[in-house]
Amino acid sequence: MATTQTALQAVIQRIEAACLAAGRAPDSVRLIAVSKTFPATAVADVARCGQQAFGENYVQEAIDKMAELSALSLEWHFIGPIQSNKTRPIAEHFGWVHSVDRLRIAERLSAQRPSSMAPLCTLLQVNISGESSKAGCQPDELPALARAASQLPGLRLCGLMAVPEPTDDEALQRRRFATLRQLRDGLQADGLHLPELSMGMSADLEAAIAEGATLVRVGTALFGARQYHKENA
Ligand SMILES: *Cc1c(COP(=O)(O)O)cnc(C)c1O
Repeated sequence: MATTQTALQAVIQRIEAACLAAGRAPDSVRLIAVSKTFPATAVADVARCGQQAFGENYVQEAIDKMAELSALSLEWHFIGPIQSNKTRPIAEHFGWVHSVDRLRIAERLSAQRPSSMAPLCTLLQVNISGESSKAGCQPDELPALARAASQLPGLRLCGLMAVPEPTDDEALQRRRFATLRQLRDGLQADGLHLPELSMGMSADLEAAIAEGATLVRVGTALFGARQYHKENA
């Protein structure tokens, strides 16, 4: 608990310092605690220190944790790759999804979102590193995907997300994040309302905040190093 509090405070201080350096309000960036591979008890520890939003990559693992933690009022973000046969549990259990990269997935999530729930807050994942192996739509596919997704009644399209290639080169980090912001700005100039930019992780959240991140997804700096995950094997 003491170490959890220390780790959370350290991340919050990094976010605040980066906001200050960028001339941004400290509350303009929200922390998503990425708890994949860590047990519900670890999530509960971080929640007890005041953290409310958690990110998960694996559907079944996430749903098991939600069930264990149902007494807490937490906000769950799905941030992992989405297979089309896994859209229903995402639509039924999550408040946010950051990793929609094709229309078929957006349509299924919209159709499967229960009408008793608020529309699913949806971010489109964009491949801004130009590596063919990476998840995310290509930048040239983004305008059509964004327009179509914005029309779906079960979704509330609210921004973009990216996971650039890892690099220690801060100038390159900044360029990648600036690319996502510029794509967002272009869509907004065309009339879409996309306030959220989900970018920045443990190693590069400062660069992301400098370029306009509103949601940073932080795992390792909060929970420590991850073990390899079985659903991912
Ligand atoms: C695991 C993961 C994170 C967290 O990464 P850290 O480097 O551990 O902070 C953020 N975003 C996505 C999409 C992830 O899969």
